[in-house]
Amino acid sequence: MERFPKTDKLTHVRYDIRGPVHKEALRLEEEGHKILKLNIGNPAPFGFDAPAEILVDVIRNLPTAQGYCDSKGLYSARKAIVQYYQLKGLLDIDVNDVYIGNGVSELITMSMQALLNDGDEILIPMPDYPLWTAAATLAGGKAVHYLCDEENEWFPDIEDIKAKITPNTKAILVINPNNPTGAVYSRQILLDIVELARQHNLIIFADEIYEKILYDGAVHHHIASLAPDLLTVTYNGLSKAYRVAGFRQGWMVLNGPKQQAKGFIEGLDMLASMRLCANTPMQHAIQTALGGYQSINEFILPGGRLLEQRNKAHELLTQIPGISCVKPKGAMYMFPKIDTEMYSIKDDQKFVFDLLQQERVLLVQGSGFNWHKPDHFRVVTLPYVHQLEEAITRLGKFLQKYRQD
Ligand code: PLP
Repeated sequence: MERFPKTDKLTHVRYDIRGPVHKEALRLEEEGHKILKLNIGNPAPFGFDAPAEILVDVIRNLPTAQGYCDSKGLYSARKAIVQYYQLKGLLDIDVNDVYIGNGVSELITMSMQALLNDGDEILIPMPDYPLWTAAATLAGGKAVHYLCDEENEWFPDIEDIKAKITPNTKAILVINPNNPTGAVYSRQILLDIVELARQHNLIIFADEIYEKILYDGAVHHHIASLAPDLLTVTYNGLSKAYRVAGFRQGWMVLNGPKQQAKGFIEGLDMLASMRLCANTPMQHAIQTALGGYQSINEFILPGGRLLEQRNKAHELLTQIPGISCVKPKGAMYMFPKIDTEMYSIKDDQKFVFDLLQQERVLLVQGSGFNWHKPDHFRVVTLPYVHQLEEAITRLGKFLQKYRQD
């Protein structure tokens, strides 16, 4: 018998973005193979350098940022976050409602630990960014997946959400702009979700880490600004629009009737204290990032690299027979659909594993995002156009082996 087996609480926890296929890619790289990576939303390695002023401000503040700071984060950084959201219509916040974490990831885990008792339910989109499901499961909660409708721009299916609310439902998660679909939700769909949360007294978790990565004039609405009477927790950070994922800086902001959530907040405070504080020097980038000129616009407006890459990836993917794809309005991903009448794919993890082995292209299978059928995969649109062209050409060639019509 194994002396140190995996703990029971980890049995059902999965995070396939860095799962077995990713491990195989690392192994192949160690053997010297070159892999075309369309698998992780990490901008810097693809030539998306951080804005210079962010680097300068971190360096300037380094000598005075050697110690721990307040568990919730540096006052100046939290104040900048408060002011940012006040201008966006979140009016019930002060610095005590802001928590800075080592990435949004840490705050997601803390939130689930603070909220969920064994068996408590949280509504999570399907497909999802799988950390939410993993963190809810690890906390002992039950991730209940509500459908996002590919036929309707990947918007949440309100009827499906309604059908899945039970007396154990404590919260609903909205990821907008969405990873992995790239959907940007309309004000109306957000208002419909708010109404359900109001009726059933749910906390709204709003993961808005792609808030500033928008295409074709899409407009992002903060769900918290549409629900001032409800408890909302809004998440964002420096990893995507500011391209410093390695700095590990994220924040969450609580808005609304906090008196209803004294215990939850006490729990968050304790969990924040237990990990002492987030990386201190990097917090000096937050104020710089949030104010002033937003360099991400250079990449997403006409002529910008991210926009061009999204266009090219979408064009090439949809030219492959039997592949369809809703064109993303935001973020840096696509979630194409494979026609399983045309291609015989029963196990999507095996499919991306074989693609990696044979064509040296790395994708993430749809089931890695808790999608319920083996007929989707996620593409990251960060690589240069020539890399996307090469990868998608190889994918198209590889797919033909599965053709059954
Ligand atoms: N939320 C979403 C939707 C994401 O896609 C990611 C990273 O890809 C995160 C949160 C975590 O971001 P970080 O921990 O780098 O702040």
